[in-house]
Amino acid sequence: MPYLLKKEEFTRFIDLLIPFYNVTAPVKNIKRNISEFKVLNTNEGNKLVFDLPLYPAKDVFLPRKEKLFGFDNGNIIDVKHDNKQTLLFMNRCDINAVHRNDLIMLDDPVDLNYKEKRDKAVLIEIPCRITERCVCTDMGLIDYYDIKIVEIDNESSSNDKINGKRSNKGNYILDIRTKKGEEVIEKVKNRLSLEKATYTKPKLNLFKPKQVKTDNKEVWEKYGKECLSCSACTIVCPTCMCFTIDDHLNLNLKSGYRHREWASCQLLNFTKVAGGNAFRKDRGARGTQRIHCKFIYFREKYKHPRCVGCGRCSAACPVGINIFEYFRSLK
Ligand code: SF4
Ligand code: SF4
Repeated sequence: MPYLLKKEEFTRFIDLLIPFYNVTAPVKNIKRNISEFKVLNTNEGNKLVFDLPLYPAKDVFLPRKEKLFGFDNGNIIDVKHDNKQTLLFMNRCDINAVHRNDLIMLDDPVDLNYKEKRDKAVLIEIPCRITERCVCTDMGLIDYYDIKIVEIDNESSSNDKINGKRSNKGNYILDIRTKKGEEVIEKVKNRLSLEKATYTKPKLNLFKPKQVKTDNKEVWEKYGKECLSCSACTIVCPTCMCFTIDDHLNLNLKSGYRHREWASCQLLNFTKVAGGNAFRKDRGARGTQRIHCKFIYFREKYKHPRCVGCGRCSAACPVGINIFEYFRSLK
């Protein structure tokens, strides 16, 4: 059921949610002149901005460093987690990144640590501010939100005719898609003057896979010469989820814990296996892996590209490598 939320009540809507949830949303960091994801404190609803921060919120589900479980004398000790639900306010591309990550992390065998955090999260789509770096329209994004906030920004849009007579320009539609979304609205509904509304979903752009020949040596040699192997592109990518795992053993050699940490397919060490052999020694080979992972392997298995077109990797790359230009140059 869609609702009409008045613009004067938007901040109050967020403030009402903060006591119930870890409300994680993009905010402006004035000192650094950037936007970033932050958990909002009481009465910080006015800080929320409709932005796509350079660093995604993937650490909500896959923390940069994470203790998976403890062990003692053959017994497994669970790690305690915060039981509060997380409300994640994100752009459409980032919500689709959660969808792509769900496909792989919740597939058999399920990643239980990821699942626990994912089950407690509610995804709220915020209006997009398209930038020159976005290429999301080519990536077949789907509706995967629990609640979507739609900005009524055009006098002549069909949304203006909601409830008949007056203009609703500047107000918002809250489109509820799931039970999780309904539960959120139930908590605050009576303290806002929400009105029932109608909302027609826009048509989805289907993903049109491009047939490419990936054995183009020239392309990969060029990539290998340009790339510094710094891994910035994978750190900022909302769908890069590679990690390493190691065991930390106490001196008694009986107890300790298992730990995982982000890694990157662009780093030489990540490609090393037992015995020290590295399968992708040169940077061009690691670039090949990245582009195959985003546009070919994942699509073959899950029917979607693993890229959601947020453009962060191109923005973060110190030498300006643009993954789409490389992909387009494969013929
Ligand atoms: S590959 Fe680049 S554009 Fe695609 S999802 Fe990752 S960061 Fe965004
Ligand atoms: S950010 Fe650029 S230079 Fe660094 S690893 Fe990625 S493609 Fe290579």
